[in-house]
Amino acid sequence: MSRKEFNKEFSTRIISEKFTKQDAHGAIAMPIYRNAAFEFSTSEQIAAAFQNKEDVASHTYTRITNPTVENLEKKVKIASGADNVHMVASGMAAISNTFLTIAYAGSNIVTSPHLFGNTFSLFKFTLADFGVEVRFVDTDNIEEIAAAIDENTCAFFCELITNPHLEIADLPEISKLLKARNVPMIVDTTIVPWCGFDARKAGVDIEIVSTTKYISGGATTIGGAILDYGTFDWKHNKRLKNIVTTKAMSQFTFKLKREVARNIGAAIDPDAAYMQTLGMESLELRYDRMSSSAYELALFLSDQKEVVKVGYPKLESSSYKKISDKLFTGNPGAMLTFSLEDKEACFRFMDKLQIIRRATNLFDSKSLIIHPDSTIYGTFSQEMKDVMGIESNLLRLSVGLEAVEDLKKDLLQALR
Ligand SMILES: *Cc1c(COP(=O)(O)O)cnc(C)c1O
Repeated sequence: MSRKEFNKEFSTRIISEKFTKQDAHGAIAMPIYRNAAFEFSTSEQIAAAFQNKEDVASHTYTRITNPTVENLEKKVKIASGADNVHMVASGMAAISNTFLTIAYAGSNIVTSPHLFGNTFSLFKFTLADFGVEVRFVDTDNIEEIAAAIDENTCAFFCELITNPHLEIADLPEISKLLKARNVPMIVDTTIVPWCGFDARKAGVDIEIVSTTKYISGGATTIGGAILDYGTFDWKHNKRLKNIVTTKAMSQFTFKLKREVARNIGAAIDPDAAYMQTLGMESLELRYDRMSSSAYELALFLSDQKEVVKVGYPKLESSSYKKISDKLFTGNPGAMLTFSLEDKEACFRFMDKLQIIRRATNLFDSKSLIIHPDSTIYGTFSQEMKDVMGIESNLLRLSVGLEAVEDLKKDLLQALR
């Protein structure tokens, strides 16, 4: 399904999307099916359900599927235009399930070293122990990407806007190279939700989202989504090429849903799926407000004498402004970075804040600030930090839903 075929606007599509089956009581919000198992009237029916034989899949066990989770998957599908969506328990579960589906001993992943900390650790340590190699490249350098690819490259992976460096790979350009070399493009797009970024148009084959962030609607729950745009021919992957699929499922989604995700068992909880379904309904509204406040604060911080540098892709000073304007329909996300004189200045500043909270996480309704070097990357060796390019005078701000004027006042009093 391409976005052009949608005849309704983003929020309307999500809010008006109906359940797969009419609720017995006509409930207007999808109830939370907080149960492990589902019963059947006959042994024929339970056998058919286990063998995936019916047209409208029945649910058998919540580790595999659940009506509340399925409803969220439908909403994500209608929001993104993906062919298939699979929800899991966290963003990391989305990344690990994806790579456990496509990687094999002797295969390699071509990626940037500028990754979310646990993703870096998954590639560099966890998967390495199973014989999967990670090849770090500068994603701004297309020749370097091309040189790193060989016949055992199972994917090119990157984050849409790296954190905290705020680099943006030119996905449409990289996609041309990957198509010619039969390598799938997998992108973690957590940083800009579907209302601001069209993954299909950018050439993304598999999209990964930590739904803990924008989607959960105020940091209510942990979750992750794996979206398959049905654009890659998996006959180029040694592990997937012989899979015979049914209906509209790619080999990737088939292997993921029918085997890997069930075996890993990182199913999203129905309560979390319910909260995230509510989050989906207000997603565009929240994102518009947060991202426009982020741009305004980036401009505001740029004018302050105590601030050495501000990072936000829409600023004229960013070398990623052009690609940011090309990829994103509105502002490029609700996260910005800025540098003060040194680490001590960062700590003093943070301790004075009254509205902005000292916490990790992104895209809560509350504005959150963190000093990445001493926290998220605190247990990494200096050598690893150098590879990942983590600077000790950098702060990361995730802009929430508070009035932007109050946030400016808070930043200003803490700076002075
Ligand atoms: C938070 C985050 C993750 C991990 O998501 P969890 O839901 O915490 O497991 C992965 N990638 C990015 C870019 C993130 O911000």
